Amino acid sequence: MGCVFCKIVRGELPAHKIYEDSETLAFLDIYPMTDGHTLVIPKLHAERLADLPPELAGKLFQTVQKVTARLTQALGAPAFNVGFNDGRAAGQAVPHLHFHIIPRFPGDGGGSLHSIIHKPNTRPLEEIHRLIAGSW
Ligand code: 5GP
Ligand code: ZN
Repeated sequence: MGCVFCKIVRGELPAHKIYEDSETLAFLDIYPMTDGHTLVIPKLHAERLADLPPELAGKLFQTVQKVTARLTQALGAPAFNVGFNDGRAAGQAVPHLHFHIIPRFPGDGGGSLHSIIHKPNTRPLEEIHRLIAGSW
């Protein structure tokens, strides 16, 4: 398979690995947004969140929690933005699900998740709520 992150999992491409267990892997982003910018992936290839076997979701988030604590310990990072681009319209470039852990520091000039996009509701909140909450 040509997936670049699967190649890292298989050891066919180098990476600065930070943590690894049987189901997950964490390594430094090659173009870091801040010091310690880390990617956390499932070893199993899943392109989108919807493709991830639900039983792996907890493991993946446990690794995010572990790595975040380690980044605080190692780099003194007092804060983080944690998230992922799920799908091309959301900016996903590598088609293998990956959490970004972006250490944040006072005065680093960055914004919050709210700065990704600001497109006010085109429909009333009540209508949006009815569509979502009523459709389980
Ligand atoms: P996306 O836009 O898909 O959420 O982000 C992909 C991320 O993967 C980018 O931040 C990019 O710098 C990183 N990346 C892409 N290719 C490689 C690679 O070969 N090695 C590492 N360590 N990071 C990569
Ligand atoms: Zn993959």
